[in-house]
Amino acid sequence: MVFAVGPLTSPDSGGGDEAALSPVLAGETPPAVPVYFFEAGGSESLSAKLEEHPYLESCRKVSAMAGYGGADLLLSTEWGRGMEVDLPERCFQELSAASVAPAAVGSEAVAKLAVAVKPRYHFAASEGAFFQRPPYRNYGSSGCMHTTRFISLGELAAGSAAPKDKTKKWVHALNLEPIAFMKKDDLSKRSADTTDCPYVPVDPNNRTVFVGNLRSGDVSAEQLEALFRAAGPLSGLPGAGKSGFGGGPHKADGRLECWFCLASPQLEDHLVCSVADEIYLAQPKGGLVPGHVLIVPVSHQQRYSELSAEGAKEAEQYKESFKRYCLSCGCEPFFFERCVPTKGAHHLHIQAVPIPAGEGSRGARILMRSEGTRHGMTFQEVPEDADLRATLKDGPYFYAELPGDVVGSRVRLIHRGGNIDARGNRRHVPLQFGRDVAAKLLSMPERAHWRDCSLPKAKEILQADIFKEAFKRQL
Ligand SMILES: [Zn+2]
Repeated sequence: MVFAVGPLTSPDSGGGDEAALSPVLAGETPPAVPVYFFEAGGSESLSAKLEEHPYLESCRKVSAMAGYGGADLLLSTEWGRGMEVDLPERCFQELSAASVAPAAVGSEAVAKLAVAVKPRYHFAASEGAFFQRPPYRNYGSSGCMHTTRFISLGELAAGSAAPKDKTKKWVHALNLEPIAFMKKDDLSKRSADTTDCPYVPVDPNNRTVFVGNLRSGDVSAEQLEALFRAAGPLSGLPGAGKSGFGGGPHKADGRLECWFCLASPQLEDHLVCSVADEIYLAQPKGGLVPGHVLIVPVSHQQRYSELSAEGAKEAEQYKESFKRYCLSCGCEPFFFERCVPTKGAHHLHIQAVPIPAGEGSRGARILMRSEGTRHGMTFQEVPEDADLRATLKDGPYFYAELPGDVVGSRVRLIHRGGNIDARGNRRHVPLQFGRDVAAKLLSMPERAHWRDCSLPKAKEILQADIFKEAFKRQL
């Protein structure tokens, strides 16, 4: 079938366009395939009215139903507002070359509609520029779903022949297999450039309040609610012993200058995604991908062996939850920790990065060993039954957990001591080593340094909120 979007006739044709089309429209010359005409892009935009339209609410209700699998196609005049969130630099250059300022275009209502219906393909045409966005993930009630490919079609100037320039493509052919007939595995496939959903709106009524320095059991949910009356009703109170393995007292020994101590004024609490008794989870500044997180002790501990038995248990539980999160997104986890004892400044943080499952994750060990060799590092395997606190007890080390031979399995590797540089001198393991390996595994070498990936605070908040929403189902 063919969908024709936009005005089909031009006043400049002197009625020639109408004459050419009228036998088709009158049914005298039936087209070879069904054709649907969308007379959009005129003086009045439909999506401006969409916000109040009951259709949007109906779409939301339908898509919130259990078992909703998504729509095959969404055709809209306008782009969704916020489409540019998470785009790589090359896309901004492409858009700029096509004279489109992505942040200035798009409709909020179309973005909401796309979030609600979760189309596999979303076509829009209002900007008159051909543009294919890297696919983005959708989230449903059961976690990650298929991706959406947003495609903006170019403009066919009235009366002109079809432009040869590929960047001005105005027609797009698609061999589309309906979602209802697709295998789950095929639906969950992701390309390496997949981003998180750019549209998920922040609910202004839903705020997170962190409360510290309270002894467990001292304060009831009602008392807290009275304290935070202005914030509205409280939910998900870990301290009230309601959820998961979280909750409890947090010591007030946070170092004032430490970025990671939960009680430190330096802590950027909008990045915190989950808090348990002794361990918390936060997004790093300039993460590699939206699912990149850190597993960090609440109080100032320098190495894994300093964790209490309970702290180590929580860290491992967070690893398990993160693994479930990864598997739900078609990924596998890569954990790494670099420990270089310093005069008390270092605060333990285990990096957790989702790696697309498949060849990339199977080859992770080989890549890490070969990258290590370049830096004079040698890795030993840590047996599955070895106690991690005892293993990581002495000296500097670089420790990693990588995908094993089958999906969901792991291999634990450790390099002890520093590394030997080209001149034969012993040095510390390079600060960037783990992140470099992860960036290569993600085929994103350009994102190896966090400074190249830092986001404005508003986007950090949005990204953390999206992660929290997906991660809480795996706790
Ligand atoms: Zn600290």
